[in-house]
Amino acid sequence: MLRAMNLLKKYRCRLVAGALLLAVLLLAPLFVGAQTPCQPPAPLPAAKFTDMHCHTAGLGAGGSGCFVSAELRHSYKLRFYLQSFGVTEEELLREGDALVLRRLSARLADSKQVGRAVVLALDGALDERGELDRARTEVYVPNEFLAAEIQKFPNLLWGASINPHRPDALARLDWAKAHGAVLIKWLPSIQHIDPADEKLIPFYRKMAELQLPLLTHVGNERSFTRAHDEYSDPARLWLPLREGVTVIAAHAATTGEYDGERAFDRLARMMKDNPRLYADVSSLTQLNKRAYLREVLTRPEFAGRLLYGTDYPLVEIRLLVSPWYYPRQLTLRQRYTLSKIRNPWDRDVALKQALGFPADVWTKADALLRPTVCGKP
Ligand SMILES: [Zn+2]
Repeated sequence: MLRAMNLLKKYRCRLVAGALLLAVLLLAPLFVGAQTPCQPPAPLPAAKFTDMHCHTAGLGAGGSGCFVSAELRHSYKLRFYLQSFGVTEEELLREGDALVLRRLSARLADSKQVGRAVVLALDGALDERGELDRARTEVYVPNEFLAAEIQKFPNLLWGASINPHRPDALARLDWAKAHGAVLIKWLPSIQHIDPADEKLIPFYRKMAELQLPLLTHVGNERSFTRAHDEYSDPARLWLPLREGVTVIAAHAATTGEYDGERAFDRLARMMKDNPRLYADVSSLTQLNKRAYLREVLTRPEFAGRLLYGTDYPLVEIRLLVSPWYYPRQLTLRQRYTLSKIRNPWDRDVALKQALGFPADVWTKADALLRPTVCGKP
């Protein structure tokens, strides 16, 4: 111990100098060097546009029918999520799960750029009888709850979630369409849906007939405590595309590999042959996806196929999404200015614009989800 102290004393100057040098090396890129966005920033549309990828969650409070598994309820993730929704567990239990939607709608109303948001239901895994298997479902947000609540908010739309293996899946599609759903959302890896299963053809045909696009997760899923990633292979989406469904690959498949090929490259290849295939840009500015950003924005396969979304509330978690993570693309002043924008949608749009997201990204979802979106202001 004494020897160590003596050594420390002896080399103190060198240690301090070394630490300073390391700090300078680590921090230098934040302050110097030429910053270039992924593409030259393009102007934003004059009118407000739609965020087509937002989440809600609930604990069943107020008779919502929502639930999260006991595992997730006791995991640190739930606390993070609720905090980013701007609610506490106590508030939810007191005021009901619809509080998340009230807060979301109010925050959105303050946005200068984004006028509407599509909030997504989430169906669960099923048992052998085709009924909800609560033991294997981590997060459940029922269509009935969302359809009823969304009506109260002029700036909110909703996406239904229907496990196609439910015995009444086709009737549920009709019901969702009749109640204003603008798309169908799947998380195949946690809902145990293989999109390439030929048994789903009638479901796909009905979706095409009702003009309900499929927003589906592709690539690895890490927001849940367990996932069957093999079902999220982009190649499994050939079947719905062949059956006439418009498919939107969430987050542009920016996670995971299949047979040694990045999910992202698979999706890019499929874009060429499938004009009805799109990708959303939600979560692309997250810390863990920066490596993909320039590729998503510049590869020709994705030109005209990207839709604006935030993956709210994840966009509110500053550890995950921050302009400070882009020292090579944004100047110090830009990073500071962007970090000071309080509204999550305005901050997200400003960051994405500064990074060079193409001009057609913002309004593409409005065009694609018509005519339903037009029903709301
Ligand atoms: Zn999402």
